[in-house]
Amino acid sequence: SKKAGRNTIRFFDPSLESAMKQQATLEEDLRIALQDKQFILHYQGQFTSESKLTGAEVLVRWKHPEQGMMSPALFIPFAEESGLILPIGNWVLETACNQLAAWGKLPNMRKLVLAVNVSALQFRQPDFIETVLAIIERSGANPHRLKLELTESMLVENVDDIIQKMLTLKAHGLGFSLDDFGTGYSSLSFLKRLPLDQLKIDQSFIRDVHSDPNGAAIAKTIVSLGKSLGLNVIAEGVETSEQREFLANAGCFAYQGYLFSRPLAIQDFEELAMGALIE
Ligand code: C2E
Ligand code: CA
Ligand code: CA
Ligand code: CA
Repeated sequence: SKKAGRNTIRFFDPSLESAMKQQATLEEDLRIALQDKQFILHYQGQFTSESKLTGAEVLVRWKHPEQGMMSPALFIPFAEESGLILPIGNWVLETACNQLAAWGKLPNMRKLVLAVNVSALQFRQPDFIETVLAIIERSGANPHRLKLELTESMLVENVDDIIQKMLTLKAHGLGFSLDDFGTGYSSLSFLKRLPLDQLKIDQSFIRDVHSDPNGAAIAKTIVSLGKSLGLNVIAEGVETSEQREFLANAGCFAYQGYLFSRPLAIQDFEELAMGALIE
């Protein structure tokens, strides 16, 4: 009613108020985190069926001064909403490229490929290509060692524009992987048009390949779909040797997951790489 409207402030929901306060605090904390360099990257190895290391996915973490290590699942969605994903994403890309440039001088590391997650908002920026190329140039990284992970949901609008951006970056040597594949709604004809290099099967399809026949059928179908589109197919979230065996039988020869390695701090990842066979 009118009366309620005029007096809204009196009925202000205290839980809503505290939610807004929390949001404001989180935004402020994220800005400080950027300034004070509270983000770090973890590296999760990607492997062939012979357990050779081919590279790593870069996963951001927030060393929150009070709450300790914070998962990106908790702050990336908010960073996307608030636009802070743009400076955070640039920092991630720059740090990954600096790492690639450093590895370029080490015989055991220089063939490794780094996969970097890119948010929809980042990819949609009109200057996305210039930004990425400038970061690569500044770092001295080999662009052929950089792979960008996109998700289906971000690829539905302005398909021609998306394809153009992908082609431009591919012409500079970058690769593209379609992350969380199978969880979105894109049609197969649309998939065929995208200049992708890799499909990444979402971990939700890997989880129950042994307990759920439908899950198993879907995982198999995704592998053969990817292969028939001429793409490399990688499975994420591989935790057991049974899952690995199932995937190998289905024709998937690239893996990422706790069975092979957890996401590791840089020193630990470099140690792993020094002791590993490199593809
Ligand atoms: P994602 O891209 O699907 O990344 C895979 C997630 O699965 C990671 O969670 C990883 O730690 C986890 N994982 C890896 N292997 C296993 C496994 O064997 N079992 C299980 N249960 N989980 C496994 P994380 O690191 O918490 O990242 C969560 C999400 O946050 C990522 O999902 C990605 O969407 C987003 N994210 C992480 N780093 C970045 C970034 O730099 N930029 C953007 N835009 N998003 C990021
Ligand atoms: Ca990813
Ligand atoms: Ca994923
Ligand atoms: Ca995921």
